[in-house]
Amino acid sequence: MTELVDRLAELTGQRDRDVLDATLVEAFRDILVDIEAVSIHRRVGEPGQERWLTRARLVGRDPVAQADTAWSELEDLPLLDDHPAWLAALQGERLVEVRGATHLTVFPVSTDREVVGVLEIETHQALDATRQRMVTSILRIYRNFQGLLDYSERDTLTGLLNRKTFDESFLKATAGSVMAPDDRVDGRRGASTGYWIGVIDIDHFKRVNDTCGHLIGDEVLLLLARLMRGSLRFHDRIYRFGGEEFVVLLRCKDDDSAALAFERLRSNAERYAFPQAGRITVSIGFAEVKAGDTPGAAFERADKAVYHAKAHGRNQAQSHALLVARGELEDAPRVGDIELF
Ligand code: GH3
Ligand code: MG
Ligand code: MG
Repeated sequence: MTELVDRLAELTGQRDRDVLDATLVEAFRDILVDIEAVSIHRRVGEPGQERWLTRARLVGRDPVAQADTAWSELEDLPLLDDHPAWLAALQGERLVEVRGATHLTVFPVSTDREVVGVLEIETHQALDATRQRMVTSILRIYRNFQGLLDYSERDTLTGLLNRKTFDESFLKATAGSVMAPDDRVDGRRGASTGYWIGVIDIDHFKRVNDTCGHLIGDEVLLLLARLMRGSLRFHDRIYRFGGEEFVVLLRCKDDDSAALAFERLRSNAERYAFPQAGRITVSIGFAEVKAGDTPGAAFERADKAVYHAKAHGRNQAQSHALLVARGELEDAPRVGDIELF
């Protein structure tokens, strides 16, 4: 009992979702004896091409949980159909048991809105009713806690991440990023991180409000948020920064791939028929995140590129690097070159 309370205290002390899921599987391994393996898997990707992402998996007495990397390619992950028991638990929103050499018990994992994944527990003996109930109760606490985290991290209108969470996740994402070996040795800043930041601003949004009203304006924001989610990859992060301004953090291999992603987003927005407002376009500016960048410095480069797009006809995606190379924008001072005082 004390162990259980301790574990719950530890669980609800986490704010980082990766750590939260790892803590959850560790808690189950330690509370339920006779565990072979325990894992949590999430459904990711758009409808029709959904896959399983392993959020945390512990086998036997492993000291730490393993997980798929946050930037896994969707195509490399297993299809929903590859794991019929998980799919049955997810779709049926019920517990599923599979008897074999070992015993698998699969529980649906939900948020307030939907079933988002499954928890699989592998044991030698079937989980009895008491232990099943204990797992279900802990999953309810996990669900309530995730709901609180969502409330503090997400924008209520669009469900996108809010501005408050941007700095923290920017620093977390780019801290573990890849730098060229020579940059690591001499600590030189400005090396590649493999991340791009994009700023997306709706064109003439004021007109939508003026001609259709604020409620329709809000609907456009909601629909555009969905469209962005559908146009980008599942691990790309999308933030609502201000009223009609959005920020995206992408993991990409080069400026050309980033350009393709942002161009796809721009073109999807242009082609979408918004029910009342009709056609809407967006202007996008994007820039590579460099090692040592502050969130503000990276944002500023992308924002300058948006400003350029706005001044040159709107409805376009502009690369900061390309604009600088063409002499159309002045380069910002190199990161790390700025002396304070
Ligand atoms: P530009 O192409 O230069 O970006 O023009 P714009 O009209 O989009 O830009 P501006 O910044 O002048 O206006 C933004 C408008 O967005 C002002 C405000 O009425 C509207 N807005 C901001 N937040 C919200 C919101 O939450 N809901 C609605 N409906 N409108 C909002
Ligand atoms: Mg605007
Ligand atoms: Mg704006």
